[in-house]
Amino acid sequence: MRLILLGPPGAGKGTQAKRLEDLHGLKQLSTGDMLRSEIASQSELGKRVEGILASGELVSDDVMIEMIAHRVANPDCEKGFILDGFPRTVAQADALNEVLRESKQALDAVILMEVNEDELLARVAKRAEEDGTRTDGDEETAKHRMNVYKEQTAPIIPYYKDKGLLKSVNGMLSIEEVAAEIDASLNL
Ligand code: AMP
Repeated sequence: MRLILLGPPGAGKGTQAKRLEDLHGLKQLSTGDMLRSEIASQSELGKRVEGILASGELVSDDVMIEMIAHRVANPDCEKGFILDGFPRTVAQADALNEVLRESKQALDAVILMEVNEDELLARVAKRAEEDGTRTDGDEETAKHRMNVYKEQTAPIIPYYKDKGLLKSVNGMLSIEEVAAEIDASLNL
């Protein structure tokens, strides 16, 4: 099964992706984690993107598409994958289509985690406090990340709706309840 988890920063995509990985053997592909590990290892790419992550802006489509195009072809994705944090723009969604078409793969579903913006901002601020490794946690950056999501990422919602792939779940419920909604929407 090949899935995309979609939703604003802090919606809980990572938590749900990890659970799907553990329970169903799908590989979690988190572009945010990949970028943070590039930064931690101080690679060339890491040095280039560090400031971008800290500001809450998006890394360029070219860099992200190259990063994920290689990943979905990896043998560890044989049973399927969950994209967590990708695509974030319509250009990335188009490129993903092309990559999957070339390797004769298809997406099964795009799960949209719907949230209440104010509650979410409070949640993001709390997580940043608990998790010292993130540099994008201050309130202003969290708001900025939300605006970036609305402007650049939300347009992919109708894109996948038109393809008949979109399934919405209530992301404000407890972790277990959201998990149950996701499983039900996928008939798991
Ligand atoms: P995340 O952990 O998914 O919230 O990602 C953290 C940050 O990494 C984002 O705020 C962006 O700066 C960058 N990032 C992650 N995934 C992407 C992507 N698909 N396109 C552009 N930037 C990304």
